[in-house]
Amino acid sequence: MSSDQSWKEKYFQELEAAEHRAEHWKAERNTLERMLVRTCLASEGQAPELDRLLARVRLDLRKSKVDIDSWKELQEQIDRQVALLDDVPASHGGGSELSATVASSPKPSAMTEDESDSDPSCSVANAEHQSQRLRIARRVGHLLGQLLIQVSLEPDAETKARNLQRALLTSENWDELRDGLNQVADLIVAAVTRSQREFESFLKRLDERLEMLQEHFSVQSSAQSGRQAAAEALDCNIREEIELVSRHIEASDDLQGLKTSVSRHLEFIGQAVDRFRVEETEREKMLSEQLQAVQEKVAVMEAHSERMQGQVRQERERALTDLLTQLPNREAWQERLSFEFNRWRRYQYPLTVGVMDIDLFKRVNDSFGHKAGDRVLQLVAREIKNRLRNTDFAARFGGEEFVLLFPETRADDALMVMEKLRDHISALPFHFGGSPVTITFSAGLTAFKPDDTEETVFDRADRALYTAKDAGRNCVRVG
Ligand code: GH3
Ligand code: MG
Ligand code: MG
Repeated sequence: MSSDQSWKEKYFQELEAAEHRAEHWKAERNTLERMLVRTCLASEGQAPELDRLLARVRLDLRKSKVDIDSWKELQEQIDRQVALLDDVPASHGGGSELSATVASSPKPSAMTEDESDSDPSCSVANAEHQSQRLRIARRVGHLLGQLLIQVSLEPDAETKARNLQRALLTSENWDELRDGLNQVADLIVAAVTRSQREFESFLKRLDERLEMLQEHFSVQSSAQSGRQAAAEALDCNIREEIELVSRHIEASDDLQGLKTSVSRHLEFIGQAVDRFRVEETEREKMLSEQLQAVQEKVAVMEAHSERMQGQVRQERERALTDLLTQLPNREAWQERLSFEFNRWRRYQYPLTVGVMDIDLFKRVNDSFGHKAGDRVLQLVAREIKNRLRNTDFAARFGGEEFVLLFPETRADDALMVMEKLRDHISALPFHFGGSPVTITFSAGLTAFKPDDTEETVFDRADRALYTAKDAGRNCVRVG
């Protein structure tokens, strides 16, 4: 009976544990499924075939059961598409020639048919390895671009860095990429060393300046105390001699003796005054030489400081300018936005913010190369600069995104300006490799409203931009 009971207890315990395990697996599976769906959504928009495969993954996940065999096949198809993706931009790195090889290229260079025939698992692994290395290089290329926006380098190093960034973004040759990755570290060291050197030389100059002032003050004060001592000595000498003379006058009844004594004392006094005068002249000469030397040094320092101020101004301008488009950069934008925001809070005049983004810009890069993309950015920036009023402000926010500020302008008025700009740019005759290409942008606008902060306004403008994208692009929306 008792053994029967313990058997029962064990059975129930086991049952309970199994239920727990099942619940745990279910929760784990749910989380993994959710993550997979999100990852699929985030990866969409790179290639139609890949989108189709990812949609299938999501569809399968919605069914309660997954067919493992068909998923193995699906996974291989996705791997192939991903490898294909990594090869596409590299085959167009050459320049702005129009090329149709993206669509017609039958297979990625990272995995030839021969390789996949002889040892499929090995060649898939190889292709994965290669594409991972390429992805890392591209990522470092982008990071380097961001770094270059923030730090300033010597012009030579700047050019080198730009070339290096280009190679990292476009090259497919692993030897070149490996060299490139090694050079990135050198570049960062160069940037850090440069600012350290500038700081050291600034400290040195400051130290020299302080030393010179200290020297000047110590000469001044010793000259001052020298003069005081000499004047006291002279005063004392004269007093003594006068006292002696008056004592002699009182005591003496010999007029001749008195005369001799008075003239001797007067002679002493005269000598003391002469000595004092000579010393005083020397002191004055020394002081005026010192003064002149200090004046010369101050003049040199002033010239130097003017040069430094010019340099600082230039450096600051550089730090606030986007190198590629010569428009103000994101730093400059933040400064100006804060400035205009404070003015708006104080005076409450209308203030409108705009965010614009070039449409399907990735296609320009993919079809005509990165250089052609850069050229488009420069031309669009030039048009923005030329078409806005002087009081308006435009900056490159990053990538193919620009931001705009319209002080004392209501959103509806800014909309008219933006519509004109949009019309103008969409009609510009861009040509790559002899083919005409249309470039358009979408934009979102919004005016500051009570209780707004810099962030809330920017978010609203950004949302309006995405409404414009959703509405089919090449349009402006007010949020
Ligand atoms: P959408 O209309 O939705 O904005 O599509 P899109 O292709 O413009 O947007 P997406 O964000 O997919 O692609 C932006 C591309 O801009 C990807 C990136 O490589 C490219 N890009 C960013 N900065 C630069 C740059 O300085 N030069 C060049 N040539 N391309 C850049
Ligand atoms: Mg964008
Ligand atoms: Mg875009």
